[in-house]
Amino acid sequence: MYSPDKVKKLWDAIKQTLEKMTRKIIRCRSGGFCDGVSRAVGMALRANASGLRVHMDGELVHNSSVTQYLLSHGICIWDGSSREWRSDECLLIRAHGISLERRELLRKLGCRLCDATCPHVARIGGKISQFRRMGYFIILYGDERHPEILGLKSYGGDSIHVLSSVEQLTSIPCLRRCPHIAILSQTTASSEDFQFFASAVAREFPWIEIFDSICEATRIRQMEIDGHIGRGQCDGAIVVGSPHSSNAKKLADKFLLANIPVAFVENLEDLQNHHVLPGDGTILLTGGTSTPPWEIDAIESYLRQIQ
Ligand code: SF4
Repeated sequence: MYSPDKVKKLWDAIKQTLEKMTRKIIRCRSGGFCDGVSRAVGMALRANASGLRVHMDGELVHNSSVTQYLLSHGICIWDGSSREWRSDECLLIRAHGISLERRELLRKLGCRLCDATCPHVARIGGKISQFRRMGYFIILYGDERHPEILGLKSYGGDSIHVLSSVEQLTSIPCLRRCPHIAILSQTTASSEDFQFFASAVAREFPWIEIFDSICEATRIRQMEIDGHIGRGQCDGAIVVGSPHSSNAKKLADKFLLANIPVAFVENLEDLQNHHVLPGDGTILLTGGTSTPPWEIDAIESYLRQIQ
């Protein structure tokens, strides 16, 4: 005779095996537009609906589907060429924000400006200015080519350095002599990578002040994935996002680090043309902060149809 405990264990093992033999789709609750992106897209559409001719100063967010959507509504991208701006036109500053120099340049154009910079990015710019005024040396952790970092860097003037690894610390020999040092991060950095970086710098310079400026939207998306991986609820993953999207790439990296096969796709067509889905097990579906919900919806419907 089996004891009730033994029967339960046996049943759990059978259930686990059955679950692995069938494909199960879990859509992350956090995937898709964050508040900053929703706000920027909403601003563009509202300005357009109010009768203004809207020009974007570059891509509003890093997602080609969103760009196409805005273009289809008659919103255009300003190519930077000189032109006469009419009173019924406006220039839209993108969600990543811009440098102080570019802001000044746009102001001088004499056109109406509509600022869609995410409030979180704007707050970090304010914090960097504050540290600079207080005589701090500032280390900004992130990708020096990313538009957000290019914009934020301008708030630090000569007192800021952008780094992406601990090894690069040697490029700032004056650091040892700085009595006040602050570290901030790109809003979309990986939480673990930033913690690793900041702790390593703190070991060298124990007097530094760490200001974790990763935004809540990024953090929640990363934590949700960690939770699923930690509970063993993930045999494969699909991350929907643009290849230029920093936060979407970081989400895909999480699966790669855990040795979980991941398809990093822009849309359903991309998935169908370039990827073979695992036949069974649990597939986690998520998207970056600039991924429109309709792209994730389309992939989810497709997965449920072929299930
Ligand atoms: S990812 Fe964060 S910082 Fe970037 S737009 Fe969204 S809320 Fe703002």
